[in-house]
Amino acid sequence: MADFVAAIDGPAGSGKSSVSKEVARQLGWGYLDTGAAYRALTWATQNIKGLELDQLPEVDLASEFDYAISIDPDRYWVRVSGIDVTLVIRSTKIAEAVSEVARVPAVRTYMKQLTRALVAECPKQGIVVEGRDITSVVLPDANIRLLLTASEEVRLKRRSAEVGASHTDQVAKQVTHRDNADSQVVDFMTPAEGVQLLDSTNLSFDQTVSAVVKAIEHADFED
Ligand code: C5P
Repeated sequence: MADFVAAIDGPAGSGKSSVSKEVARQLGWGYLDTGAAYRALTWATQNIKGLELDQLPEVDLASEFDYAISIDPDRYWVRVSGIDVTLVIRSTKIAEAVSEVARVPAVRTYMKQLTRALVAECPKQGIVVEGRDITSVVLPDANIRLLLTASEEVRLKRRSAEVGASHTDQVAKQVTHRDNADSQVVDFMTPAEGVQLLDSTNLSFDQTVSAVVKAIEHADFED
């Protein structure tokens, strides 16, 4: 188990994935992208028999969903049943379907256990865990908990750049739609008690990374 857990939540385009990855790299820690499991399960609902969306409330995910993820920020991969799904889970087809999967209560319960198990197995000194409900539901006892936000305009710009979109309004529609759907399940726009808010609207990527590293350095290790 890592000695130090940093939990970072935020909406799509807040930069939490790339920021969390870079923070982990600089500190020599593990990096856990929790959205990847929801995306991978969404891919499984479309490609693996017995894991269709309507089966999810009944299926035993611990035995039927064969999921693996790297927590090395320099060698990131995601696998389902031994198949490398690292790239395919970033597709529009998955992004459009993921919220539907993420709102199934049995899925959320399973993801909570899965995330906690992955953190418990982390052989490094620390781990940065990012998602939507990590600070509030999954790891409320993390040593530091941050909510990373940015104005909607900046988030949409960053997201478009990330996916290399030529049709910015299409990206805007998708991201806004996904955030709206997701926020009906988890509130990732207002910090839970004890969670620090970091607004990156006017910060560069490097400045945001530094702010997170600084917050970690100032955190109470005994928390
Ligand atoms: O972070 P990312 O955009 O890859 O997350 C994909 C989807 O997974 C989100 O839109 C949300 O539906 C779901 N998710 C979640 N809780 C998390 C992480 C992701 O519900 N902790």
